[in-house]
Amino acid sequence: MFLRKTIAVLATTAALTTALVGTAQAATELTYNSSGAGQFQAAVDKGAQVWNASVTNVKLKKVTGRANITVTWDTGWPRAYVSSLGRGRWVMGTQAVNEGHDTVRISSHEFGHLLGLPDRRTGLCTDLMSGASAGTGCKNPNPNAKEKAEVEGNFRSAVTVQPSTFVDAA
Ligand SMILES: [Zn+2]
Repeated sequence: MFLRKTIAVLATTAALTTALVGTAQAATELTYNSSGAGQFQAAVDKGAQVWNASVTNVKLKKVTGRANITVTWDTGWPRAYVSSLGRGRWVMGTQAVNEGHDTVRISSHEFGHLLGLPDRRTGLCTDLMSGASAGTGCKNPNPNAKEKAEVEGNFRSAVTVQPSTFVDAA
């Protein structure tokens, strides 16, 4: 009798723990406004969708008003201005697009900066944060397992990201 009761209590505790762990890790929602990205809006959205399909601790949501992340375009190099984790803006630059760099890869790469990832110019197409160093033949818009884990960790513990600018010139 006593043993049965103990087991029941243990089972209840386990269920509660699962429920608590499950809800404690709600995703951080970051809004982005790409209304200033002109003809690149679809590529910007695809880059956001890549991240939404890749990680669970943070989600990017498109809005038309005030946003955490603003995306525009100009004729320079793509670049990101990060003010803190998940806050700032990035620019789609036609200098890279005209050279043949993939616009969706550029988009997910720049969102990667806003999600706390630095540049790592490894030249490897399997690395999202290798950016233009992987060459124009590289069309991979997906973060690798290590990059995904890093972003999950950044939002799990809400790491502090210092203000930084990343210019993605080839
Ligand atoms: Zn970069």
